[in-house]
Amino acid sequence: MKQLMDVAIIGGGPAGLSAALVLGRARKSVIVIDEERPRNRVTQESHGFLTRDGIKPSEFRQIAREQISVYPSVHFENDSAVAVTGADGEFMITTAKGSTFGAKKLLFAVGMKDLPLDIEGLTDVYGKSAFVCPYCDGWEMRDRKLVIISKGDHALHFAKIIAGWTSQYTICTDGPDEMTAEQREELQQHDVPIFDSKIQRIEAANGSVQQVVLEDGSIISCEGIFFVPKLAIGSDLPQAMGCAMTEAGAVVVDEFGKTNVPGIYSAGDAASQKYQVVAAASMGSMAAVSINSELLGEAWSERG
Ligand SMILES: Cc1cc2nc3c(=O)[nH]c(=O)nc-3n(C[C@H](O)[C@H](O)[C@H](O)COP(=O)(O)OP(=O)(O)OC[C@H]3O[C@@H](n4cnc5c(N)ncnc54)[C@H](O)[C@@H]3O)c2cc1C
Repeated sequence: MKQLMDVAIIGGGPAGLSAALVLGRARKSVIVIDEERPRNRVTQESHGFLTRDGIKPSEFRQIAREQISVYPSVHFENDSAVAVTGADGEFMITTAKGSTFGAKKLLFAVGMKDLPLDIEGLTDVYGKSAFVCPYCDGWEMRDRKLVIISKGDHALHFAKIIAGWTSQYTICTDGPDEMTAEQREELQQHDVPIFDSKIQRIEAANGSVQQVVLEDGSIISCEGIFFVPKLAIGSDLPQAMGCAMTEAGAVVVDEFGKTNVPGIYSAGDAASQKYQVVAAASMGSMAAVSINSELLGEAWSERG
């Protein structure tokens, strides 16, 4: 095992990188272990982060790493953490390449991952003309003809939200229908067409959606899609270490990113349902401040 670091950060997306920056500036020794599979890698541009609107996700990470490299106590490992043992004060992380790292505190910034998309053709357009978040990509799809793939309560919610960007949209529930009669009536009152048949495939040209073909033979021409993805946490390690999890599969944390397990923190998509780069970076920063306070408090007590 290499030296005992102050903090091991597992995951080097906006949450983990933001934490690394704060901890580097606080003169803490940090190892960031990142396997470089961020959730937004499919997208061409990331929006809504002040001063970085429209940036490529890979460029965002590259700039972050460059800026963090000024702080010599932060080290990066392009690797996957596969096992964690130990407890507060001395955690041990093993990676896929066979390295081991020891750290006093642990931050899980492992993000969320999309489960395989089960509609034919959706993977080809994901991040190009099919999106999940109107705040991220709604502007680019403004006034376009869109298909919203969503069911039940969420379909009505999505319909209300997307109306802020375009008035030309259709709901596809991809069957079986889970909407109540009242929800259906509300959508009809707002002239939102609803199709209940299962989707057979999505047809596209060069990443641009052209039409959605349903199993009942209907064809809906459109220029873009918003859909609700199925997600899972980026790594099983938080659960394996005993971290309490929400029903949605995120790590339960307090406002400073602290989990129920002493010495273990979590931040970003892995510990919230905000799913925004700026929110993930903010959580990473707050967790780093909290970890640093805990380390300084412990050092103070040891000296006293
Ligand atoms: C298509 C799409 C478009 C989006 N567009 C926008 C946008 O325009 N604006 C916006 O604000 N948000 C956008 N988002 C949301 C944004 O991507 C996330 O909110 C943000 O990336 C979360 O940051 P994070 O650091 O929590 O996780 P991530 O960015 O997902 O990073 C987690 C990192 O942890 C690594 N990791 C996981 N497990 C391990 C392990 N065991 N060992 C080592 N490394 C590990 C992963 O490989 C990854 O690199 C978009 C998302 C998608 C899917």
